[in-house]
Amino acid sequence: QTSEAEVVVFSVPSYACQRRTTLENHNAVLTDALALLAENAELSEEEGRGVAFRRAAAVLKALPRPVTSMTELRGLPCLGDHSLRVIKDILENGASSEAESTKQSERYKALKVLTGIFGVGAKTADRWIREGILGLQQLQESGQTLNRAQQAGLEHYDDLNQPVTKADADVISEIVERAVVSVLPGAQMTLIGGFRRGKLSGHDVDFLITHPEEGREVGLMPKVVSWLESQGFLLYQKTTRNSYLESKDGPGRPSSNMDRFERCFSIFKLTEKERRRTKHPETATENGLRTVSTPEPDPHTGHKLWRAVRVDLVVSPISQFAFALLGWTGSKLFERELRRWAGHERNMSLSSHALYDNKQRIYLRATSEEEIFAHLGLEFIPPSERNT
Ligand code: ATP
Ligand code: MN
Ligand code: MN
Repeated sequence: QTSEAEVVVFSVPSYACQRRTTLENHNAVLTDALALLAENAELSEEEGRGVAFRRAAAVLKALPRPVTSMTELRGLPCLGDHSLRVIKDILENGASSEAESTKQSERYKALKVLTGIFGVGAKTADRWIREGILGLQQLQESGQTLNRAQQAGLEHYDDLNQPVTKADADVISEIVERAVVSVLPGAQMTLIGGFRRGKLSGHDVDFLITHPEEGREVGLMPKVVSWLESQGFLLYQKTTRNSYLESKDGPGRPSSNMDRFERCFSIFKLTEKERRRTKHPETATENGLRTVSTPEPDPHTGHKLWRAVRVDLVVSPISQFAFALLGWTGSKLFERELRRWAGHERNMSLSSHALYDNKQRIYLRATSEEEIFAHLGLEFIPPSERNT
């Protein structure tokens, strides 16, 4: 009995949106293996299995120190039999045989390479693999018809598969800010996605744009895109218009978790010139005018003087801004867990547009993320602690 009591067990609430998860992860070996299995499941279109692995990994990320034995995991939520087997394997043998064999499998490797092309999802990659296409060379030789996004994705494959640094995200922020205020003075731009959560690198840079006067944001996206295009910043862009008002399902209850804002998926051309032009706060002098002296690449050595970067732009009316901000800051699992909490624990429907109380049959207004957490009966979790 006493030995039972001596085992210090962790206590973790079951929804990820009830927990504070920073970027500091004491169980990276375990969570990397689970994330790989989650990714493999998602790429194989087994969404349920993917979520189960993601939830298990998220619980381990929230622990204050490394797990050393299976007994410490007793009572923790979201750890299913499969995830527990993976964890046990790693604790006993130093690695998960399932994760290792998945990583080595031809199918996983091909799925990774092919979905690494911007514009290629799991379905397309799977079809190509069944046709014997396992890599980029084979894809190019196959004569497959590629859409515009995929062509751009293939063309900029190496750049787009290289992480975007925080420094480059700052340079792009400055460019987008210039674009936004040039086409509509008073419009506001906010960095969202992983960089808002404090990540030091990411797969893209995400921005939310609005105007403090409702309605002034209408038509803003095409103007921003035209400005960026005229300045030569865009290698590719696809704008999808806002379909929110036309949709049959009510605001809080979209038919899928896809939102309906006007948005632009783009590929930026980030030049060395722009990189040097931007002031870096940490090295700025008192007058704030000094720029960082990154070595000028030699144009004669054939070095490219720019890199391609994926950038997402979203425009929201100010009345929905708080919901959009919360919905686009992530992480993806944190968002999913917020919606699950709202539905299962509060009988409410949360989207990136609104919060609907199904019992009272009213929309709950909010002008800040804090208010939305309060409506949901959750403690406020700041962006830097949403890294589930
Ligand atoms: P990364 O560093 O990989 O970019 P991230 O957290 O920024 O990490 P993104 O894929 O850029 O990941 O997504 C940012 C946020 O936008 C996420 O919270 C996600 O839920 C939301 N999001 C992404 N795509 C959509 C979409 N099609 N519809 C609605 N929300 C989306
Ligand atoms: Mn992102
Ligand atoms: Mn994005």
